[in-house]
Amino acid sequence: MLAGYAATAAERGVERIAITEHSHRFAQVDGVVAGFWDGDDPVLAAATVAIWREEQGADLDRYCEVVQAAQREGLPIELGIEVDLLPGRAEAMAEVIGQYPFDLRLGSVHWLGAWLFDAYGIGAFAAEWDRRGHETAWAQYADALAELAGSGLCDVVAHCDLVKVAGRAPDAGYRREVEERMVDVLVRSGLDIEVSSAGWRKLADEQYPSRRMLEALHASGVGITLASDAHQQDQIASGYDRLLALVRDVGYDQVATYVGGRRELADLPM
Ligand SMILES: [Zn+2]
Repeated sequence: MLAGYAATAAERGVERIAITEHSHRFAQVDGVVAGFWDGDDPVLAAATVAIWREEQGADLDRYCEVVQAAQREGLPIELGIEVDLLPGRAEAMAEVIGQYPFDLRLGSVHWLGAWLFDAYGIGAFAAEWDRRGHETAWAQYADALAELAGSGLCDVVAHCDLVKVAGRAPDAGYRREVEERMVDVLVRSGLDIEVSSAGWRKLADEQYPSRRMLEALHASGVGITLASDAHQQDQIASGYDRLLALVRDVGYDQVATYVGGRRELADLPM
């Protein structure tokens, strides 16, 4: 399977990829973070429990072994993970993740309390967009992003303006204000940020982050990684050429790589 991923990436012009499974899928993580939804709205909590049960059960030791075996075979693959910031669980999460030899750790915010806001295909989560309102959602997301950026949980912030995923944005002035707050937090964190084509596959129909945020991050010297956030093989490197053109146009000529756990800068392909 991993050999196939690497082959697809190579066919599409990508030399190295990182495998970054979501932290919440692993039994070892479940043991210390489950129940973070308790006390929130019961409808949202029930919807999160349903997703959790469906996606839970992978073994983190086995996951690392499989990726490391592929590395020993010489496949150009990094051992990564996407670490969720979960309400009240950052320390417990850090303790589990810190026991494993990841080459890189993406960090992300998908849950605001018990609300999995990006799962807009699920009724309870979609309805919450109307109930909470765009402005509140954006403000709460920015708060969570600030917590993630200061948490020590990650090396790279994934899809840093994910809150736009459902195509629900507040008016332009408010959006700009929240984007500026998010940029400030990211600049101060010293972390790299991921530029991802995945937003083109969502209602947002825009890469992460927005061009305005990316320009501001570039102006402040923030490093980038490139991602397609592929959840299946045919999505590997999707939109890669378009993404390369965008980051070059913004002014980037280098990309951060995490090879064997070491951060290095590499020239972007022409
Ligand atoms: Zn994610």
